[in-house]
Amino acid sequence: MNNLTTRKSRSRKGLSILLLLLILFIGIRVVWGNGTFAAELIPISTVKFATAPETVEEAKFRIVIDAGHGGKDPGAIGASGAYEKDFNLSLAKKLYQLLEQEPLFESRLTREDDQFIELEERTAMANDWYADVLVSIHANTFEDPAVSGTETLYYNADSIALAEALQGEVASALNIRDRGMRKEDFVILTSTQMPSVIVEVGYLTNPQEETLLLSSDGQDRAAKAIFEGLKNYFSQQHQRNHDRVDPAADDSALFRNRNQQLSENKIIFSGPPDDGKKVALTFDDGPNPTVTPKVLDILKENDVQATFFILGQQVNANIDLLRRIIEEGHAIGNHSWSHPKFDSLSVEEAMNEIEKTQSALENAIGYRPSLFRPPYGALDNDMLDQLQQMNLMAVNWTVDTMDWSGNSAAEIMELVREQIYPGGIILLHDSSRNNRFDNTLDALEILIPELKAEGYSFVTVPEMLDAASAQ
Ligand SMILES: [Zn+2]
Repeated sequence: MNNLTTRKSRSRKGLSILLLLLILFIGIRVVWGNGTFAAELIPISTVKFATAPETVEEAKFRIVIDAGHGGKDPGAIGASGAYEKDFNLSLAKKLYQLLEQEPLFESRLTREDDQFIELEERTAMANDWYADVLVSIHANTFEDPAVSGTETLYYNADSIALAEALQGEVASALNIRDRGMRKEDFVILTSTQMPSVIVEVGYLTNPQEETLLLSSDGQDRAAKAIFEGLKNYFSQQHQRNHDRVDPAADDSALFRNRNQQLSENKIIFSGPPDDGKKVALTFDDGPNPTVTPKVLDILKENDVQATFFILGQQVNANIDLLRRIIEEGHAIGNHSWSHPKFDSLSVEEAMNEIEKTQSALENAIGYRPSLFRPPYGALDNDMLDQLQQMNLMAVNWTVDTMDWSGNSAAEIMELVREQIYPGGIILLHDSSRNNRFDNTLDALEILIPELKAEGYSFVTVPEMLDAASAQ
């Protein structure tokens, strides 16, 4: 079907990263394993390689690019009469060319010309090749020509992170409306065994958008955006896998001593993995008068403590709620004043966001928290230096439940089960984004008893890090 799979330019970079991980992992276990060497080696089988590789040389990220429709199936018909199948193929080929230049990637197209291929045949190509992701390229259609914008479709919980990585990049590269992500049970999404998404790049039925999508500049921008999104996605996954397989290597040394952590200027992702089976629940973006009391009720019923990362702009309207959080034994951290993306702020603006929140919290609850969580987890090194001078610890997470996206309690639990390990920090939200928060509450009712039954105990982040809650 295609003959694009014969190139063998191997990645030395990818190779050496994997080798380093292996050496680090095995080395640490040998030193610390004390005769439990064999047992300790088991987790390495949970490292996610591109496929179960015979040799390390096989470990490139495999990407299947699917140009939607084709042959007798033209897909959408654009405002000027253009066929969606031709747009899809043209963009898919541009994306393929970009991916070919990146040695960490290996990619295949489901079709290289104008032919009809059944959906099941497309997903079988990805499944049989053990692809890491499938990206299906489409353009949208609607009876009202005014409707416009990019959206990304997913089905499995595992695909949400991929959808998120691509959606924002494409919408902003094309400078068109960001319609967000949507769950759909299309065959290409349900019968793949790897994260898979459909990128509906834009609306061919909208005349302006059709002009943009058919232009070579528009297609170059869209291809670049998907390419960048894929690179971000795999670097996040790599970080996550590193955390999961190798907590002892980084974490014990790093997290035992708070001062050392600060002097190393690190963002904290988890607690020590060898200090009992502890886990920390964290709730961002509150307090919220509707959601936070419900979260507190569930925590109380289950007798567990958590950590709330507070937005400064919500402090003054919710002082009673803040007091209840503290009275019930939970910890409080700073989550900025207005939730901006810190990597697009100056250091001064960023510090202003933090300091305003520190002083609002001090007025409301009587102390300045010792923890800061950056919105979206984004911070640059200069900001880390400043945080260190302010004596604040930057805390991210290891378990991303994506609850803000509106995914179901079952999907949240799937992500928790996949990412949890001792010392883990779980990210949830106690705000009513899109009026959807019952998924978080429903998930909590399952999550707490389930992890307790597995022997986990729930602690606040300061307790996990053996640090004070207040400065
Ligand atoms: Zn947030």
